[in-house]
Amino acid sequence: MLILTKGNHQGLRIGPRWPSSRVMVDHRAFAQLLEVQSRLPCSVQLLVTRGYEHKSSYLGAFRSLSRWLGIRLFCWCYPQRKQELEDIFGSNGHDVDGAHVDVSIVLDGKRLRFLPLGVFTSPARQNRRQARYAAVVDEVKETLRQCGFEIHRNPTESLQIHCDYKA
Ligand SMILES: [Zn+2]
Repeated sequence: MLILTKGNHQGLRIGPRWPSSRVMVDHRAFAQLLEVQSRLPCSVQLLVTRGYEHKSSYLGAFRSLSRWLGIRLFCWCYPQRKQELEDIFGSNGHDVDGAHVDVSIVLDGKRLRFLPLGVFTSPARQNRRQARYAAVVDEVKETLRQCGFEIHRNPTESLQIHCDYKA
């Protein structure tokens, strides 16, 4: 397992998601992320924001609390989307090992944000934002797949791009 702080690591950008200050990634997944980056045009950079997070750490406790609050707020905003709760608020493997990562896209030096309100961003707004950058999003996801990553099936999770490395 590699422990990576904010910055550039062998050409791969790391930007830990608040309140974390580091991203822990399985070394094989890291090697494949480097491979993905090398196949993308220079204008497109990956930004790895989340990897392994130990359940009983301070960070794990923070995530549990935000999950608890998030579920309540989400149900209030989107009562008809209860079937997505597990996909969106489950740990999605982040508490299992470093093969589960979240990746953002940086285009021409600017981070693309498809979820300005996080998972509470409405599906319509998500779609509008994604449509503007559909070509680059598709290219990144396809390259991730070619390098052994499985993209999350939930549309919202797939936009923050949650993916699992399958060795
Ligand atoms: Zn994730």
